[in-house]
Amino acid sequence: MRPARRPVQPVPPPRRRLRRGRPPCVPAGPSPAVLLDALPHGVVLRDARGRMVHGNPAASALLQLAPAQLMEQAPPDPGWQIMHADGRPMAPAERPSERALALGQDLADALMGVGLPDGRTRWLAASVALLRNAVGDVTGSLACLADVTTQHRQLALLEHTIDAAGLGTWEWDMRAGAMVCNDRLLHALGYRRGEVGLTQREWRALVHPDSRRAWGRALHIHLQDPRQPCRVELRVRRPDGTWADVVSCGVLIERTPDGQPLRMAGIHIDMTEQVQMQAMLRHAARTDGLTQLPNRAAVFDQVQQAVERAARQPGFGYAVLFMDFDRFKQTNDTLGHAAGDELLCQIAQRLRSALRHGDGVSRGNFAFDDEQADADGVQHTAGRIGGDEFVVLLEGIPDREAACAVARRLLAVLAAPYTIGSSIVHSTASIGIVTSEEAANDAHTVMRDADTAMYEAKRAGRARYVVFHPSMHEKLARSVATEADLRLALQRDELFVVYQPVVDLQGSGPCGVEALVRWRHPVRGLVSPLDFIPVAEESGLIAALGAFVLRSACGQLAEWRRRLGGLAPASVAVNLSAVQLRLPGLAADVQAILADSGLAPAALQLEVTESLAAQDETARERLREIKALGVRIALDDFGTGYSSLACLHQLPLDTVKIDRSFVSHAEASDYHRVLIEATIRVARTLGMDTVAEGIETPSQAALLRRLDCGRGQGYLWSPPLASDALERWLLASKAGRVAA
Ligand code: C2E
Ligand code: MG
Ligand code: MG
Repeated sequence: MRPARRPVQPVPPPRRRLRRGRPPCVPAGPSPAVLLDALPHGVVLRDARGRMVHGNPAASALLQLAPAQLMEQAPPDPGWQIMHADGRPMAPAERPSERALALGQDLADALMGVGLPDGRTRWLAASVALLRNAVGDVTGSLACLADVTTQHRQLALLEHTIDAAGLGTWEWDMRAGAMVCNDRLLHALGYRRGEVGLTQREWRALVHPDSRRAWGRALHIHLQDPRQPCRVELRVRRPDGTWADVVSCGVLIERTPDGQPLRMAGIHIDMTEQVQMQAMLRHAARTDGLTQLPNRAAVFDQVQQAVERAARQPGFGYAVLFMDFDRFKQTNDTLGHAAGDELLCQIAQRLRSALRHGDGVSRGNFAFDDEQADADGVQHTAGRIGGDEFVVLLEGIPDREAACAVARRLLAVLAAPYTIGSSIVHSTASIGIVTSEEAANDAHTVMRDADTAMYEAKRAGRARYVVFHPSMHEKLARSVATEADLRLALQRDELFVVYQPVVDLQGSGPCGVEALVRWRHPVRGLVSPLDFIPVAEESGLIAALGAFVLRSACGQLAEWRRRLGGLAPASVAVNLSAVQLRLPGLAADVQAILADSGLAPAALQLEVTESLAAQDETARERLREIKALGVRIALDDFGTGYSSLACLHQLPLDTVKIDRSFVSHAEASDYHRVLIEATIRVARTLGMDTVAEGIETPSQAALLRRLDCGRGQGYLWSPPLASDALERWLLASKAGRVAA
């Protein structure tokens, strides 16, 4: 039960106590109690055993206790309590006066909280002086209380703010070489208090040598001119050996009377995450997201560095290998983009491992993960600069041959079939090479030249490398001009079709014609299809050009039939290019053109080259569609490229055309003659007809007749002719006036 509150009345100090416990400093005059009561600070006097002797009204007000409560003659109000700085209740024995008496020594500025019944907390700083008699025995204590609530709140606010801002704080006694820092600072660096010494020398040892120099410079400048802040980025070693990135800002806060720097204080801002984020962003900005190889910007920078190094360091050689994949677009179109992406990733992987394992030992410690170096110190960087274009930069190569050797190895590695899901994809690369021997002096020109050489490698038949030569630019310029002119040619009717007769070698007389396109250029005169068909293929003009030839040829045969009746050729052959064979609407176009001309499908023969038809599943599908229309199909130029008799049965063929190069060697070379014979036999066994191309002499015609070749074509009978000339040739042949 709480005792009833007694009326508040001043308590006279007990005489005995005053006599015995009189502080030696109290002067004579008014009683000490009166003096103490006049003080604006709270004062509490206790005897040597800690019992209350006197508390002045200021103490009563500060502690919010009535005088009787202050004198411990009445219990405090419920909810009133004394507490530690962290809010824990403070036991009576822990209170400043009791502690000072127990320890036998004075206390200065001991913080204590007074929990008030209304829920607020008042913070007091208590300084306790022990009172002693003449012989030095402790006779009591005098506690002086000051209200520090405002300062305490401000300090707490400051600490919270520093904590919330993630700031580490430090103070450096420059003369003693001692450091004081907060837990946040230690924590950010991965240390716990006690794990690292707090002398300046120990701190210095944790700082990266480069940072130490920067710190020294910043400090020197600040001490010379305090308006210049001492702000520096530091790398500090963590316990696990990694580096933390911090920004340290400090100011001089105290000097000795003679002006020497004495103390500095400052903050540490942990920048590790930001620095890592920046590094990640920098890496992402220079890395191709799909393959994780260096991207276009990074590759250009590397090339530029190589160019500059070659300029200032005689004997330093480099090479740029610019590569493009010959069947990438097709994979993308037929198997979908995901398969295309997968192909690119596999290509990147092959480049990586070919460069890593091919020439020697990897050295590491380069700017890019994808840089490698071989045992001779040649450094390789592989990058993807867009689409299916990759670049390999070789730095430190001895000569051009070394670059060519790497190109040969890469071609072989990249040509092996790729497994994409359940499909097997064949993709070769075309590589253009620029070495420092012929390189320009800026990265963009070097890359452009390498691209030009790559383009030349494609023109030369793909799956090969070509070393750049300045004359290639003229060639390229010509092909660009040809493309522009060809567009106009289609509109201006400069294209026309000529016809070369095909004759029956075993019987007699013509049995068909082959349609061959011609271009009468207003300035260049007659341009060979060998010059403009590749340009048409690359520019996409081939679709319109092919349709034009097909329509002209079918129309012409129908016309001859009307005009010549039984003298008209039995069929017309039209060449199809590789690109046309990939057009999805090809069979429908052919069907429509046949319907327009009124020709039976069997009167049309479409010629495709072997390398194309054999390799490509899309092309084979297209051929099956055309074959299903009833149109005949011929394999052109058999014997060139990767001829294989074995592939004949895989294609829906009616005719095999033996290439002119075989026919021209047939008389002198047993090898060529035997191959022609074998081709004719296999074709016949498979139910196919054979045509020998490029027969120029009667003896060639006789040989092929002996070898049982079905039909022939060549200058012996006629070169390709305009339609009216061919009509005259047909009439002459009927009259027996042409070679047999
Ligand atoms: P190809 O289809 O093998 O055509 C035969 C080529 O050999 C023709 O060359 C023809 O003029 C030539 N030739 C014929 N007999 C002889 C001979 O006895 N001696 C010699 N030296 N040459 C002979 P042309 O017209 O220059 O055509 C070259 C190639 O261009 C054609 O080879 C064909 O692959 C392509 N081509 C021609 N017209 C077209 C077309 O309309 N479309 C497509 N896609 N390609 C075409
Ligand atoms: Mg042909
Ligand atoms: Mg041919």
